[in-house]
Amino acid sequence: MTVLRFAPSPTGRIHIGNARTAILNWLLAKKTGGQFILRYDDTDTARSKAEYAESIAIDLDWLGIKPDRIEWQSKRIGKYDASAEKLKANGLLYPCYETADELDRKRKRQALKNLPPVYDRSALKLTAEERAKLEAGGRKPHWRFKLDQKQVEWRDLIRGQVHVDTGSQSDPVCIREDGTYLYTFCSVVDDIEFGITHVIRGEDHVVNTAVQTEITAALGGAVPAYGHHSWLVGADGKGLSKRLGSLSISAMREEGLEAMAVVSHAALLGTSDAIHPCADYKELVDGFDLAKLARAPARFDEAELR
Ligand code: GLU
Repeated sequence: MTVLRFAPSPTGRIHIGNARTAILNWLLAKKTGGQFILRYDDTDTARSKAEYAESIAIDLDWLGIKPDRIEWQSKRIGKYDASAEKLKANGLLYPCYETADELDRKRKRQALKNLPPVYDRSALKLTAEERAKLEAGGRKPHWRFKLDQKQVEWRDLIRGQVHVDTGSQSDPVCIREDGTYLYTFCSVVDDIEFGITHVIRGEDHVVNTAVQTEITAALGGAVPAYGHHSWLVGADGKGLSKRLGSLSISAMREEGLEAMAVVSHAALLGTSDAIHPCADYKELVDGFDLAKLARAPARFDEAELR
């Protein structure tokens, strides 16, 4: 049984690029007779808004995407606590006390020496007394995951063989000073628990995949198959930002565009198939194959849709 998910942060309206990610996951779920979960990545409580979550649900429904299940990360904090405890117990999640300013100064010193801006792990050298002293002085720790610093390799469903050396990455912060969790960690806990088998997402997550593969292994989970699609660019060759009003799905709906025209366009952009309006999802599912997706950025020309 395949299980897929679309995991937007409800911090804005979704546009054609986000919708494309949702549609690709939906098509793979349909093609393989699997499940589709809508997961709101809303641990950033300052930026997440209920009205955006609602607009995402309305947009997906209009696009014909009917999730089998809906989850909210903000309601799963107990799960993240339990997994964090496991990793703290075996030293893979470790407390760090540097302030943002101190980290910034470290990066500047590294830049002067032509070194990459990778966290130097000095917190690992702190003794129990030193930590106690920092805490007594009012410092609260943030927690980083200790990367393996090795090559992580996978056969990407879209990009073919990919390797990322986690030795060139900073140990990711998983828990902030105020105790809130970051997406990188929560996403892994969720993907394991929901039994996610395939993750299709944008190429901006390639490095995350290496990091999340290591966190998944540390938690004893099964690593999903990953596919990273290229990002859409506008007719001007520039990336689409989430806040580009006219490219939002709600604007397209309000303008009177046909949902299937938008879906077909988003699904076929950047593939070896010609873009044409499909009558229904069945037609798209029948022709769906991730191997048809190009690695080069897909150009979205609004004029072709309108
Ligand atoms: N909330 C993340 C994003 O929108 C999800 C990425 C993922 O699919 O893991 O970028």
